[in-house]
Amino acid sequence: MAEVDRSCLFCRIVAGELPADRVYEDEELLAFKDIHPQAPFHCLVIPKAHVATLNDFESDQGALVGSLLLTAKRIAADAGLPGYRVAMNVNREGGQVVFHAHLHVLGGRPLKGALG
Ligand code: 5GP
Ligand code: ZN
Repeated sequence: MAEVDRSCLFCRIVAGELPADRVYEDEELLAFKDIHPQAPFHCLVIPKAHVATLNDFESDQGALVGSLLLTAKRIAADAGLPGYRVAMNVNREGGQVVFHAHLHVLGGRPLKGALG
């Protein structure tokens, strides 16, 4: 495995250096519970390889981006969520705080319409 980027929180979670409540894992993706949940169900889905933001995926990484979404669907189904929200913040202006790209998957209560 490539050397762990110790400056990146989520790379350290991938490497097992920091604990996380893991809900799904395969060769290229990891999903774990958000430490400050904003809904009864709040998971993050990340690529295991470091990509800082959605803007940093290359045009030939469409399959990986698609896998992030399909994994969100899978974990929502596994959690029995009748409906849920998937969101990705991009850059500080978009609300991104951790610069290792991640999808938020939220549910477990009726979600309000406002997004921003
Ligand atoms: P962002 O604002 O970058 O889209 O979202 C970052 C998310 O990561 C936040 O919802 C925050 O609660 C979550 N988070 C930050 N640090 C940790 C951590 O150490 N462990 C876990 N599980 N979640 C974290
Ligand atoms: Zn990273």
